[in-house]
Amino acid sequence: MKQFALSADHIVILILLITLMIKFIFFESKDPLREHIEPETIREIKRGIQRQNTDVEYNRFIETEDSDEQVSDAPRSLPDCLKIYRADETSELTDDEIVMLVDTKHIPAYNLEKAVKNPERGVKIRRKILENNLKKRESLINLPYRNYDYSKVLGACCENVIGYIPVPIGVAGPLLVDDKKYYIPMATTEGCLIASTNRGCRAIEKSGVKSRLISDGMTRAPVVRFPSIVKASDAVTWIKDTDNFAALKLSFDSTSRFAKLQKISTHIAGRYLFIRFVAETGDAMGMNMISKGTECCLHALQRHFPEMEILSLSGNVCTDKKPSAINWLQNRGKSVVCECIISSEVVASVLKTTTKALIDLNISKNMVGSAIAGSIGGFNAHAANIVTAIFIATGQDAAQNISSSNCMTIMEPWGQNGEDLYVSCTMPSIEIGTIGGGTILPAQSACLDMLGVRGPHEDIPGANAKQLARIVCASVVAGEISLMAALASGHLVKSHLKYNRSYSGKSALGLGLSCGSVGSCDR
Ligand code: ADP
Repeated sequence: MKQFALSADHIVILILLITLMIKFIFFESKDPLREHIEPETIREIKRGIQRQNTDVEYNRFIETEDSDEQVSDAPRSLPDCLKIYRADETSELTDDEIVMLVDTKHIPAYNLEKAVKNPERGVKIRRKILENNLKKRESLINLPYRNYDYSKVLGACCENVIGYIPVPIGVAGPLLVDDKKYYIPMATTEGCLIASTNRGCRAIEKSGVKSRLISDGMTRAPVVRFPSIVKASDAVTWIKDTDNFAALKLSFDSTSRFAKLQKISTHIAGRYLFIRFVAETGDAMGMNMISKGTECCLHALQRHFPEMEILSLSGNVCTDKKPSAINWLQNRGKSVVCECIISSEVVASVLKTTTKALIDLNISKNMVGSAIAGSIGGFNAHAANIVTAIFIATGQDAAQNISSSNCMTIMEPWGQNGEDLYVSCTMPSIEIGTIGGGTILPAQSACLDMLGVRGPHEDIPGANAKQLARIVCASVVAGEISLMAALASGHLVKSHLKYNRSYSGKSALGLGLSCGSVGSCDR
């Protein structure tokens, strides 16, 4: 009996194995992810992945066990080490000896790079100190730190550096914006997002997107306090006077070659006054620049109102990195609008839906749904997805995705019988720049280069940042169209399951080549 039962088990296992083999042999080859790739290409890619996994080149980015680890005897005494350090000969000290100097507070941990006069060594020693304090010492093993140009980071982009986070970056496009083709770099860990945006780009491949920049003005709004509402309102009247504004503008504009004060709006709350400065800042996103100009104006104002108390250079009416109605209504940074028209044939063939279904969904979801939710600036499907991915790729301040993602997506019937689709996206507050902040880092600069907007514009200051804002808005159009189509045709969950949950590598290889019914997620 026992033997018979065992044989039955074997038979079941055998059947399972055969089924799996049949699936693997006959169905795996029909995987849509592979159908566009030549078998030799797959083999080559696989070989590449294997190579990469064992590659010394690759490993040197992530290894923490250093091949150049100093082999030395026990650390010298603290007085001896201090003597060497004070003689400015830190290269003579071992890492352990430097750690000892940090532990004994002779070198501040935040100042390691400067103390050892070698950014990468400074980062390496900081990791060592951190590892000594972590429960799991091996925690940092997959956090790379080598071969990175820290000279650009220090004092500019990041402090207490322990390495860098590699974020995958993909490309969507070509995207036709004002008759020019762009390949859009997007850094994300959300599967489907780039495939979806790519499909949107394809849907507008023929007609292209038209873009217009409506206004450009970064804002800063300090909060000041007066002894009474009488004094506060006197200040409002004073600021509104055109001659006084001209004087303030003179002060403001003197602080930078690129800062140009456009207007000041005042917002009174009892004896508190919020003074919102709006200025062009060339190709820089402009927060540093406008803060400098604003501070200068505040001091000029204080000369007229000595009783005015400056509470903070930022009083939240700016509004930076917080949800607010003011940016949605009165703009911040670049205000951009884009439109495109998609023929009914393309709606059917690329987007796999109909104009009617898309318009219906846009009204119910992006208008009614967002209104019910009490949304401010959220009359869209997932503008933030595209904005953030481009922001990370191009070195923007990622926290500014809050206002930058404000967007209203409008869909209307178009053409003689109303079967074509008209789509517009209105984005009043894109906070963006091509110089300053993270834009100076090599990889981020490379992405700006891809778009032809790296650094300051040679002839017209501000032209690069304005163009980048237009590209962002146009990419949002592509993203909106594709996700809305996926939702309208009920493909969203299907594509997410297909691409997000597939084995690593497999989906990534397929997405760039095929972008069927894919939709990214608005969560
Ligand atoms: P932000 O004001 O966005 O914080 P930064 O102050 O860090 O930016 O960077 C802007 C710097 O770049 C300023 O010192 C400015 O003088 C300089 N700069 C050079 N060319 C330009 C340009 N075309 N537009 C804006 N800033 C420029």
